[in-house]
Amino acid sequence: MLRQSFILLSKSDLARRFVTHAPFASAAARRFVAGETMDDASSAARELNRAGMTVTMDYLGESVNDRAEATAAADQYLEIIDRMVADQIDGNVSLKLTQMGQDIDEDFLRDNVSRILERAARHHMFVRFDMESSDYVQRTIDFADRVRADGFTNTGIVLQSMLRRTEADTLWANERGMRVRLCKGAYAEPESVAYPDKKDVDASFMRCTRLLLEHGAYAGIATHDEKIIQATKRFALDRGISPDRFEFQLLYGIRRDLQRQLVDEGWRVRVYIGFGTAWYPYFMRRLAERPANVLFIARQLVRG
Ligand SMILES: Cc1cc2nc3c(=O)[nH]c(=O)nc-3n(C[C@H](O)[C@H](O)[C@H](O)COP(=O)(O)OP(=O)(O)OC[C@H]3O[C@@H](n4cnc5c(N)ncnc54)[C@H](O)[C@@H]3O)c2cc1C
Repeated sequence: MLRQSFILLSKSDLARRFVTHAPFASAAARRFVAGETMDDASSAARELNRAGMTVTMDYLGESVNDRAEATAAADQYLEIIDRMVADQIDGNVSLKLTQMGQDIDEDFLRDNVSRILERAARHHMFVRFDMESSDYVQRTIDFADRVRADGFTNTGIVLQSMLRRTEADTLWANERGMRVRLCKGAYAEPESVAYPDKKDVDASFMRCTRLLLEHGAYAGIATHDEKIIQATKRFALDRGISPDRFEFQLLYGIRRDLQRQLVDEGWRVRVYIGFGTAWYPYFMRRLAERPANVLFIARQLVRG
C-alpha cells in the first residue's frame, strides 16, 4: 500500500514541485543520489573504483516528451562518456529510453541513442538500457535487438523478476547472447502482468539467475536481498561458474556494508550511480522500496 502510494507520487507533478523545493528533501535524496553535477558523480565513481568496485552512471531523467530536452539528455551522455574516459573511471553508462525520446518517435530515439552508442563503442564502453514500467518492456527489448542488428553489440537490457513474462524473456536473451541485468522491478504493476507476492518475485529472480549464470551472456545480478545474493553465490560455487562470468550490482548509497563485503570475498561488484537535477522520481522509488526510508525522512521533517 505504502509502496504503491510512493510510486504514484513519483509521477505527480504537484508532489514533485513540493518535494524538490523542500530543503530537507534534497538533503535526504543525497543518500541515494551522488549529486547534481558530473563532478559529484565523478568523485563518487572514483571513490568506488578505489574500493574495488566498478560503476554504471545514470544521468537521471525519464518520460521526456520534448525533442530538445531529449537531445540535450543524449548530449549530456556524450559528455559523461568523455569525462569518464578523461578521469579514467572504470565503468559504463545506464540510460532510460523514455529520456531519449521513446515516447516521441522511434526514428528520433534511434538517432539520439545511436550517437551515444557510437561514442561509447569508440571507448569500448558498454551501454545498458534500464527497464521502465511494463508498457515499455517489449518496445525496449525490440529496440535493443534493433540496435544490435545495426552493429552495436556494446548494449544490454534489464529484466524484472516481478513480471510473469521475464522467464521467457530470459530464455530469449540467452539465445540471442544479449547481456541482461536482472532486478526485481521498481514499478507498480497490475496482477495481470506481475506477481503480487514477494515470494513469487523472489522465486522468479532465482529461476532467472540460474538461467543467466548457466546459459547467458555476462550477467548483472542487481539486488540488495541478502538471501538471493547468498543463493547466487552458492549456485555459482556448486556449478563451478567462475566469478568473472557475472557481477553483483547494487545502488549507490544502499547497503554499502554489503557492497564492501562482496568485494572482500572476491566477487565482482558494480554500483549504479544516479546523478543530476531530475532526481525526484528516482528518489521516490527508493522510498517506496523500504518503509524505513520514509521514517528517516519524516524524522528530518520533524526536526526542521
Ligand atoms: C543496480 C540496480 C539497477 C536497477 N535497475 C532497475 C531498472 O532498470 N528497472 C527497474 O525497474 N528497477 C531497477 N532496479 C531496482 C530494483 O528493481 C528494485 O526496486 C530494488 O533493487 C529493490 O529491490 P531488492 O532487489 O534490493 O530487494 P528488496 O526485497 O526490495 O530488498 C531487499 C533488502 O535490500 C535493502 N533495500 C532494498 N531497497 C532499499 C532502499 N531503497 N533503501 C534501503 N535499503 C534497501 C533492504 O535491506 C531490503 O530488506 C535496479 C536495482 C539495482 C540494484
